[in-house]
Amino acid sequence: MDMARRSSLHQRAVDQFQRAAELIDMEERYRLILAEAKNEVVVNFPVQLDNGSWEVFRGYRIQHSNILGPYKGGIRFHPDVDLDEVKGLAAWMTFKGALMGIPLGGAKGGVTIDPKAYSDDELQRIVRRFTHALGNNIGPEHDIPAPDVGTNAKMMDWIMDTYSNLSGPMSRHTVRGVVTGKSLAAGGSLGREAATGQGVLYTLRHWCGEVGERLDTLSVGIQGFGNVGGHFGRLAQEAGCTVVTVSDHTGSIRNVAGIDAVALLAWVNELGGVAGFPGADEISVDEFFETPVDVFVPAALENQITANRAEKLPVRIVIEAANGPTTDEAEPILARRGIEIVPDILANAGGVVVSYFEWLQNKAAMSWSEEEVDEKLRTILWRACDQVVAQRAAIGCSRREAAYCVALERLAAAYNARGIFP
Ligand code: NAD
Repeated sequence: MDMARRSSLHQRAVDQFQRAAELIDMEERYRLILAEAKNEVVVNFPVQLDNGSWEVFRGYRIQHSNILGPYKGGIRFHPDVDLDEVKGLAAWMTFKGALMGIPLGGAKGGVTIDPKAYSDDELQRIVRRFTHALGNNIGPEHDIPAPDVGTNAKMMDWIMDTYSNLSGPMSRHTVRGVVTGKSLAAGGSLGREAATGQGVLYTLRHWCGEVGERLDTLSVGIQGFGNVGGHFGRLAQEAGCTVVTVSDHTGSIRNVAGIDAVALLAWVNELGGVAGFPGADEISVDEFFETPVDVFVPAALENQITANRAEKLPVRIVIEAANGPTTDEAEPILARRGIEIVPDILANAGGVVVSYFEWLQNKAAMSWSEEEVDEKLRTILWRACDQVVAQRAAIGCSRREAAYCVALERLAAAYNARGIFP
């Protein structure tokens, strides 16, 4: 395998599904379809900045598959966003939705931008102009974005408002479901903001049940303390776990007696990162990856658990809250060291499941209670966890391969039932 191929996120997603496709002997024609995105939309759009100058931004929307339902997936704002990254993330969305058994396809979008370098007004113009540039490539019955790294509920509200203004008066309200992860005031769902972190905790609870472990005895290390890592940290602490290490783009911290995740959230909201938090000691990135914890939760970006780090990582289980955090080279090393991996398409699916609930609530013009949302989320996630455990036992493979097998069987069943046009 050459370097370019190894560093391609899209190729990693394809390799992962192909390994599982072999295991279930999936028909070649379905594999050919799933190895490519259906549509790749690239837009370049100009926006005026506060100082009067102009900048042209590049945005992407990759629609991987809609065999199970409308395209669905987040929008990332990050300087490293490129076509390959968004294609990989879009493919993972297809497998995630299929694994959850929800009627949604896979997509992902992004803009190559450091959102921290722009004012709120500038970001609003960028988001609205990007939405305009995407035009009818998104829509509540066609392709439904959501938040991801660097985007939030406020930005989803701007997407919804821009799209509804472009839609004309008769459909102003029926198009609310064009995007999920909106604020409550704009038609969002209770429980959506914390949903991915909540789902990560549900998969950890499931693992505890499998191995007869008590959640409140476990120590945790978290990489990334944004939407996913922050909510997971707070909920894990509420459930009795001890948060020992946290790392983000500003630094890494450790307190073996426990970092107060709620106080840390307030600190991060105020100051933008974990660095300088008074309730813990600052440590290096290497020390962060070498501190013993029971549960390691990567919740930042892809490719963080490299082969070198995997050799040393002193943990029992990795729960992939981020998409693609474990490199291909690191995965067999973790397996050799007896470290379990709960794969991303299972562990972080809470976000897309509650996005699905938000979309349903928007369609029905109603709102569910937080308890109802959480209960339904747990039912769907634990059903998927049970199916993965059963599949793994049946064919003797890794948890990741088993998760892909479950997803691919659903996709193959849909193709078998419908046939391929013409
Ligand atoms: P976010 O922007 O809210 O937070 C990202 C976090 O990662 C921040 O704390 C940031 O400081 C940290 N980070 C960035 N670079 C880092 C580095 N080099 N080292 C350490 N930390 C670093 O993003 P998010 O929405 O929490 O997403 C995190 C991950 O979860 C991504 O992989 C995303 O695709 C995935 N995910 C998000 C959702 C969702 O609902 N938001 C759903 C499923 C999966």
